[in-house]
Amino acid sequence: MELIESRSIFSPATGFIRRGGFEWTCNPYIGCTFGCTYCYAAFLPQNRRPPDEWGKWITAKKNAAALAEKQAPRVAGEPVYMSSVTDPYQPIERGLMLTRGILEALLPHQPRLTIQTRGPLVARDIDVLRDFRSLRVNMSIPTDSERVRQQFEPKAPPLDRRWDALAQLKDAGIAVGVCVTPTLPIANVDTFARRIADFKPDVVVCQDFHDAGGRFGADTGAEARALLAETGWGPADYRRFVNRLRLSTTVFEGETGFFPPPAVPAGVEGSRR
Ligand code: SF4
Repeated sequence: MELIESRSIFSPATGFIRRGGFEWTCNPYIGCTFGCTYCYAAFLPQNRRPPDEWGKWITAKKNAAALAEKQAPRVAGEPVYMSSVTDPYQPIERGLMLTRGILEALLPHQPRLTIQTRGPLVARDIDVLRDFRSLRVNMSIPTDSERVRQQFEPKAPPLDRRWDALAQLKDAGIAVGVCVTPTLPIANVDTFARRIADFKPDVVVCQDFHDAGGRFGADTGAEARALLAETGWGPADYRRFVNRLRLSTTVFEGETGFFPPPAVPAGVEGSRR
């Protein structure tokens, strides 16, 4: 692990995040030790390392919390996406607490915050998260199958731990999203759709995961493409899943699902749904 002094902790949003309505992104880390086989971030120029090393390195912005203290007034009341090129709740965050420090610095300035993660560690910060007036925590749960999860994202946390964290957040009154993104092969479409709908998340997002021949987009890594080919899962299966899910809940697809939580007027308590 490398520790660096960064110059800035909030960056102007670009790409689909900008198109979704976010003004800022916030990345406490560069690189990601979850190392998902399909991760688009592995191909971004700021990573400056070969994509086949993705998941094997991590750089932490050791001054992240101090920077956030200084720079948080800039993003007051504005839509912030955390994180766009890493996961803010990966294992190293347990000890470093950079994400937590940023949250504490942001709290007095009440941005409209979206946290995007696969990390159950997010539940650690419920005591801070619950005091944001406009916040949604999106948990990526791309399949119902631990076997598939281990194939495509072997270093990311087990699915049940993600569901447990989501339940804790929801019980604390925090708005949550379930992101079936990218939608990996699903073992039981009907049961998984029912589980998601019964959970009643505030937002549900799906995104087709298909072999686009290596073009940047829904699939990126050769390894992920090879794995997908082995499973036989294809666009028709994805459509069947989304159609089934739509019988029970609203579903956003692709980048249309990544938008900030609604603004909440001052004086309204907490980030409650
Ligand atoms: S958790 Fe997110 S940022 Fe990290 S490797 Fe997986 S998709 Fe990429």
